[in-house]
Amino acid sequence: NLDIRVNIPSRDELGSLGKAINDLAFETNRYRTNRKEFFANISHELRTPISYMKGYAQVLKQGLYKTEAERVQYLSIIEDETERMVRLIDDLFDLSKMEEGKIDLHMAPTDLTEVLEAALLTIKIDMQTKGLDLNTYIQKEIPYIEADGLRLQQVLMNLLGNAVRYTESGTIDVRVWYEKDWVHVEIKDTGIGIPEKELPFIFERFHRVDKSRSRELGGTGLGLAIVKNLVELQNGTITVTSNVNKGTTFYLHFPVSEEDL
Ligand code: ADP
Repeated sequence: NLDIRVNIPSRDELGSLGKAINDLAFETNRYRTNRKEFFANISHELRTPISYMKGYAQVLKQGLYKTEAERVQYLSIIEDETERMVRLIDDLFDLSKMEEGKIDLHMAPTDLTEVLEAALLTIKIDMQTKGLDLNTYIQKEIPYIEADGLRLQQVLMNLLGNAVRYTESGTIDVRVWYEKDWVHVEIKDTGIGIPEKELPFIFERFHRVDKSRSRELGGTGLGLAIVKNLVELQNGTITVTSNVNKGTTFYLHFPVSEEDL
């Protein structure tokens, strides 16, 4: 009398196995679609400035302009588009290094307020040109965080740059405070805002709420993807809230450096 017991998976177990396989296939498919989409996006993004450059170079070459002002205007367009391409290529390069985990961050106890001051200094001119007011509320003696100063500056400049880019009038408020073992940064604008249904996607590569507006204002559509990667590589998190036509607020949260605990 042989008692053969076969371990037949229960219905539940089979169900969860099936689900795991489905999830995996879905992830793989999504990855493929993402890749395809990503490369389609890149070619489109690169082609656009190139076709502008080519078009205006031809116009200039054939002398198809009436005034000196027009000639200078066409040259400026070529210059702007060249700059956009350089930015796009730099951003792409940065992003691919980050996603492959091949980016070297020089992590050290860092004074966030000092880095913020440097970022504000460069962005202040753009704010003044647009007539935007800047208010800063920085708590005293903010503890150090573990970060790469230059990369942290890149994050802050990007968020401040977007605040300026997507705000027509009003103020940009920057707040830094700490609570328990966390340092928080708030960058708040009174700009065009982001519709709620778009919020989950704005950190994805090339996702823009309004493509033509972003383009017109010099955006590459990669800024927030880079920001999110960099923040997470520095052990932080980023969150956002927004109201259309009222404004957008980005929050950064970083753990206090061990050395400062
Ligand atoms: P872009 O180069 O287009 O600015 P980002 O990755 O920096 O790309 O941002 C993605 C999109 O998120 C933008 O195109 C814009 O639609 C939206 N966005 C980002 N920051 C803001 C902001 N402060 N106010 C309103 N919209 C914003």
